[in-house]
Amino acid sequence: RAKADGRATYRFFEPEMDAELQARRSLEIDLRKALANREFELYFQPQVNVRANEIGGYEALVRWRHPERGMISPGEFIPVAEDIGLISSLGDWVLEQACMTASTWPKGIKVAVNLSPVQFRNKTLVQSVSRALARSDLAPDRLELEITESVLLQDNNLTVATLHQLRRMGVRIAMDDFGTGYSSLSYLRSFPFDKIKIDQSFVRELSSRADCLAIVRSIAGLGASLGMSTVAEGVETEDQFLQITAAGCTEVQGYYFDQPKPASELVHTLTPGRWRVEAPWRERSISP
Ligand code: C2E
Ligand code: MG
Ligand code: MG
Ligand code: MG
Repeated sequence: RAKADGRATYRFFEPEMDAELQARRSLEIDLRKALANREFELYFQPQVNVRANEIGGYEALVRWRHPERGMISPGEFIPVAEDIGLISSLGDWVLEQACMTASTWPKGIKVAVNLSPVQFRNKTLVQSVSRALARSDLAPDRLELEITESVLLQDNNLTVATLHQLRRMGVRIAMDDFGTGYSSLSYLRSFPFDKIKIDQSFVRELSSRADCLAIVRSIAGLGASLGMSTVAEGVETEDQFLQITAAGCTEVQGYYFDQPKPASELVHTLTPGRWRVEAPWRERSISP
């Protein structure tokens, strides 16, 4: 049986263990060593404010550079880290690294950090956030925490209390992947979010389904009347960009502007000419 103890790592697998289970066990073993071995990296993807035509902030996205397998995506290892009790120490590293990096950026630029629902079950989350802010000397309003609807499914009172505590520190709170949960609207009532991030699935189907545009337009309107900014995620094409901005979203994030990149490669300004930064959606709506 595969077992990781203090001194050494053993990989004896019983023959009847299937390949999938073996792969999972070996991922767990490697994951337990990854933080100490400095195998994690943060990539950053810009969120572009469409009215001001500038980068308002970056979302920090964790990457795992596995010594043998190369880059492993968070979609693969975050759920494992949650299962084996590693997400809080990984989450602390992400928070601190993100705040440290953002403290070197121009003052107007924010950083967004994803939080796992499991981190909310841990009583030390507020402490972790304030420690990251103190160590980096980052102004709290430059940190935005992204939570998914599933965070509000569990232990709602405790979670909402924690969110208020974070808000009192001056930190901003964003609702990620909005529209994918079972009762998205009721979550908006449980906490006054600063930002709604419209899930990629709505953007992806914009051109093929008319109802997606209507939904995006409604969410943007809802955000505006609730005083929340709205970000469309996963914008890849100019066409999507034009539709999204016409629908009233205040920010756009996606490959159309940039891929997530290491901190050393960030430029902080939109390159004129690479995108038509002069209000392209208005130009387009004039010509037939
Ligand atoms: P998310 O927070 O919804 O992040 C957006 C994901 O969409 C990222 O995937 C990003 O690389 C990808 N993306 C951005 N623009 C585009 C686009 O134009 N097209 C497409 N198809 N995809 C785009 P990534 O980096 O693989 O992260 C996946 C998920 O893993 C994140 O979804 C988030 O839930 C989680 N995650 C990432 N970093 C962290 C972290 O530090 N902590 C925690 N707890 N979760 C994280
Ligand atoms: Mg996110
Ligand atoms: Mg998202
Ligand atoms: Mg997601």
